[in-house]
Amino acid sequence: MASANVHPASEPARWKYLDSVRTRPGPFTDASTFNGSVVARAMETMKVLVIGAGGLGCEILKNLALSGFKDIHVIDMDTIDISNLNRQFLFRQEDVGKSKAEVAARFVEKRVRGVRITPYNCKIQDFDEDFYMQFQLVICGLDSIEARRWINATLVGLVDENIEDSYKPLIDGGTEGFKGQARVIFPTVTSCIECQLDMHAPRAAVPLCTLASIPRQPEHCIEWAHVIAWDQEKPFPQLDKDDPEHINWLYQKALDRAREFNIPGVTYSLTQGVVKNIIPAIASTNSVIAAACCNEALKIASNCAPSLGLPDANYMMYSGNDGIYTYTFRHERKDDCPVCGGQARDLPADAAWTLRELLDSLAARPEAQLRQPSVRTATKTLYMQLPPSLEEQTRPNLDKTLAELGLDHGQEIVVTDPAFATVIFMFKLKFKSR
Ligand SMILES: [Zn+2]
Repeated sequence: MASANVHPASEPARWKYLDSVRTRPGPFTDASTFNGSVVARAMETMKVLVIGAGGLGCEILKNLALSGFKDIHVIDMDTIDISNLNRQFLFRQEDVGKSKAEVAARFVEKRVRGVRITPYNCKIQDFDEDFYMQFQLVICGLDSIEARRWINATLVGLVDENIEDSYKPLIDGGTEGFKGQARVIFPTVTSCIECQLDMHAPRAAVPLCTLASIPRQPEHCIEWAHVIAWDQEKPFPQLDKDDPEHINWLYQKALDRAREFNIPGVTYSLTQGVVKNIIPAIASTNSVIAAACCNEALKIASNCAPSLGLPDANYMMYSGNDGIYTYTFRHERKDDCPVCGGQARDLPADAAWTLRELLDSLAARPEAQLRQPSVRTATKTLYMQLPPSLEEQTRPNLDKTLAELGLDHGQEIVVTDPAFATVIFMFKLKFKSR
């Protein structure tokens, strides 16, 4: 066994147990090359980027600092709101209105001596490839799918097979109420966030027949009041989701229906949550997911154990909705992934659809989720969102059918979206009528 080289830390007691992991060889280290002090040193000089300084981000920053990372950078464009204080524990009342990235950075720096955290109070899209190239590891604690897709496409785009440093592992955490996920992406090697986009399908609506005939959950009763009873009775001319009187009307209706079917659990706040589509953020779920993400970071940085993605499972899902359940599996790369694949993806369509209907379907399809698509074929521009002059020129095409535009079954189309400027989405039309 190699000698346990304890690196010169400023507060040895704090790092004692971490160093037991970092400085000693383990079952997964290569005995011939292992040098414990090198591992600790490498972690200290590794540049780690954290995206998001909110519920997950606060946890991630704290965990990274206490895991021995010393050069941490954090991007968050948001300022602190009073409603953040119940779980974003690096913020205090007097911080309301200040930059999340800056306050979080200063707090952790103060508590964990020797760690440097560089905050950026801006959007991830404000930086170019050179900026992202400087990091060795990227960890996302975001609530936006769009931002995840953007950083994923950027990191995949950085990969140059001749430059070893161009592979930046991406660790992504996400939570929704009692559910969450942690996943690791080795760009171009393992399945990427775009490959996995259908895991973030917009939530499926409860079928109308369930609402109308056999509600099983309090939410079904609320949706019934919202979708059916409101329309039938029209208690107010227009539903205003911020008007307590309106929400109270829905709540009473839902409560009556819940009593009829013996369903407990309808409350005013649940009614508000369902109608406004609010998913509560739960502090402990954030802790669980952030901890999983930071353990992956420690493993990738120190090689003390195999991380997710090497070589098999790359996706951990956690559910606390009904007891506790975790499941780790391998999400496969997709050859037709617009970011890391290269093949055109089949797009179900119909010759009788208008171009507008085709574009609307791109927003709705779980594997596309493109809200501002521009579309062209190899030879012809069909519709462009920008610049305004081209938009105006191509707008009449929106009301033409695909057949009228000369598009045929099997035709390849190219779609772009300003939200993902570097990505070219290639689709192959598959007409239903064939
Ligand atoms: Zn991919």
